[in-house]
Amino acid sequence: MAEIRIGVVGCAGRVGRMLVADIAATEGCALAGGVARPGSSVLGQDVGELAGIGRLGIAVGDNAEALLRGSDVAIEFTTPAATAEHATLAARLGKPVVIGTTGLHGAEEEAVREAARQVPIVWAANTSLGINLLMGLVEQVASRLGPDWDIEIMEMHHRHKVDAPSGTALALGRAAATARGARFDEVAQRGRDGITGPRPAGAIGFAALRGGDNIGEHHVLFAGLGEQLELTHRATNRGIYSKGAVRAALWVAGKPPGLYGMKEVLGL
Ligand code: NAD
Repeated sequence: MAEIRIGVVGCAGRVGRMLVADIAATEGCALAGGVARPGSSVLGQDVGELAGIGRLGIAVGDNAEALLRGSDVAIEFTTPAATAEHATLAARLGKPVVIGTTGLHGAEEEAVREAARQVPIVWAANTSLGINLLMGLVEQVASRLGPDWDIEIMEMHHRHKVDAPSGTALALGRAAATARGARFDEVAQRGRDGITGPRPAGAIGFAALRGGDNIGEHHVLFAGLGEQLELTHRATNRGIYSKGAVRAALWVAGKPPGLYGMKEVLGL
């Protein structure tokens, strides 16, 4: 079978560099090229050298249109404004795309949804396989255990993280609430301090720990009367995001137009 040519949009970024390395190391696909932000200091450098895997003979470009034309599928990890433009471009050129950029709002989100009417798009705020499997497991457990089981979500991240709870912890909470038929905003308890009173029935509690260089861990605790069940995911390497994105790219090539998530990629 012919190799799937993958173009990396944002190849100079932290995730972008890992994508280049993972695509080069993954069977069934080949690197079509990579583009960085127009005006970036890395333009013209070798993408492989930039990714730390040695020369690949492909220069970093800044023409996303040319890259997409030469790719079967694109992977996009940049910034929200750039992502919206690239989604529109992918739709015009009829190219599938995997989008990992987070923090899209309003018109940017709309641009992605609009593009997904023309081409298949995997859009995932977290492309790690383990986290997405955890999400599916949390849904299953929350729907099977009754509301007398309390759900608490604890996460820990490095000292530089500026928001809490993590987006992933909130997504896990949302998945649990939905599986229970509850409205997340009505049951989420995003921090406790002082005389809080007893725990409200059906609440989903959050605790955020910060320290050191912890890449990220999430614990979802189901606490019943007489027993507890805990599901844990620990990231030990940031490469989990690019590996999952490459898997999504191989999956999305050839799918009908639409907006997909990692759930579909993993067949959950
Ligand atoms: P980064 O800042 O290291 O990289 C972003 C890159 O995009 C930069 O090199 C920037 O120059 C480039 N860029 C900006 N505009 C561009 C354009 N028009 N064309 C090409 N490149 C352009 O950030 P990062 O850590 O790689 O993360 C990128 C995005 O992915 C962020 O939104 C981040 O939150 C998100 N992210 C998602 C996941 C996931 O699992 N989905 C994991 C990690 C990070």
